[in-house]
Amino acid sequence: MIRIDYHTHHERCGHAKGSLQDYIEQAIAKGMTQLGLSDHMPLIHVDRDTYYPEVTMALEELPRYVEEAFELQAQYASQLDIRVGMEADYIEGFEESIQRLIESYPWDYIIGSVHFLGTWDLSDFRQQHEWAGKDIREVYEQYYDAICKAARSGMYDYIGHIDMIKRFGVVPEQSTADLETMALRAIQEAGIATELNTAGWRSDAKEQYPKREMLEQAYKLGIPLTIGSDAHTPLLIGKHFHEADQLLREVGYTKLATFKQRKLHLVNF
Ligand code: ZN
Ligand code: FE
Ligand code: FE
Ligand code: ZN
Repeated sequence: MIRIDYHTHHERCGHAKGSLQDYIEQAIAKGMTQLGLSDHMPLIHVDRDTYYPEVTMALEELPRYVEEAFELQAQYASQLDIRVGMEADYIEGFEESIQRLIESYPWDYIIGSVHFLGTWDLSDFRQQHEWAGKDIREVYEQYYDAICKAARSGMYDYIGHIDMIKRFGVVPEQSTADLETMALRAIQEAGIATELNTAGWRSDAKEQYPKREMLEQAYKLGIPLTIGSDAHTPLLIGKHFHEADQLLREVGYTKLATFKQRKLHLVNF
C-alpha cells in the first residue's frame, strides 16, 4: 500500500480549499505515514494584480507558509511524518529569482514543474484559448525543452507532472515519443527524480502523469519516482493510489522516493 503523498496544496494559493492542518488531519485519517506539503511558488514573472486571479500566494505570504508548515511538522511529529516543500515553477529567464526563493528556506524538497511558457500558464483552464492558431507539436517541443532545462538547472529534487501539457486533451497528431525520451534522459543525467501524479486521472487526459510508456522508460533508466495526488482539497489526498500501486508494480517499481532536507531516500511500498 502506498502511504505517502508528496504533492499537495492548500488555501494560500487561492484556488485550493482547506488549511494545512486540514490536509494533515485528512492524511492521518487516511492512514498515510508521510505527507508532503508543496504549495505553489509565488508568481514572480507576471504582475499578480493584473494577471489571472488566484494563481498562487503572494510573495509576502511565503515566509508565513514556511513557518506554519515547519511548526505543524513539529507539532504532529508523533502522528505523521510531514515534509515541507514547494512546487516551484521553472520559468526560463527567471532562474536566478527562483533560485533565491529556494535558497531562502530549509526545505525538505522542491518540485520543479513547468506550468508556464512565457506568460501562458498551460495548466490554467482559463487560458486554453492560447492554443488557437499554434502548431501543437511546436508547443510540445517548447514544453519539453523547458522540462529538460528544469532538470539540468540543479534547482529541483524532482520534476512534477512531467507530461502535464496533455491536461486539456490537446495532443499533436505526430508522435512526441522523441521529446518524452529526451526529457527522461535529462532527468536521468541530472540524477533527480520524477513523480507519478494521480491528478492526471481527473484531467481531460483521463490518465495519470506520466503516461505508462514514460513510466516504463523511467523505470528502465533507473529514475527514482515519488507519488503525489496534487490535492487541491483535503479529500483528494491519496486519490487513485490503488490504481497507481497496481500500475507501478506492473511497470516494475517497488520503491518510492521520499525527501528530507533535500536528500532522497527510497522506501518500499
Ligand atoms: Zn494549484
Ligand atoms: Fe503543477
Ligand atoms: Fe500541484
Ligand atoms: Zn502540480
